[in-house]
Amino acid sequence: MKVKDLIDGISGNYINKISELTGLSVDAILNVKIKTKKSFISRISKIAISPVGGESCVIDKNTIILTIDFDKRKIQDLALLCHELTHIEQMRRIGTAKFITSYLKEYISNTKHYSTLEECYKNISYEKDAYDRQKNFIKYCYNCYSGGIQWTN
Ligand SMILES: [Zn+2]
Repeated sequence: MKVKDLIDGISGNYINKISELTGLSVDAILNVKIKTKKSFISRISKIAISPVGGESCVIDKNTIILTIDFDKRKIQDLALLCHELTHIEQMRRIGTAKFITSYLKEYISNTKHYSTLEECYKNISYEKDAYDRQKNFIKYCYNCYSGGIQWTN
């Protein structure tokens, strides 16, 4: 499965916004591979990411793993996709090996400054960047489609 199958039929506005936020072209986004909740790799990944509150992750510069039932009608789920596509862009820009090394370095170094694993994870620069874009996507959707609901924080 690819992103184009996962989000088939949704408004092009959403895809354009994700493209703008992540820096990936629409075509690049649509061709990213998706491993769904039912896949073996997703079940393994869930063990690793659920302690820090994660619902999805990337395994290489072409593949996103979902551990949740993705619903393309939910803004939160599209925002999660935007988060993971940010990591795809980071990996493609920096290089997969370098990305993984520096991601883990930051994670380990954060254990000196934060008391919970979730805080260590959320303060990795790549995560801060991805969460920012995820929030900006939600902000955009609320401003456009729900009559200006206020997004706090
Ligand atoms: Zn992330």
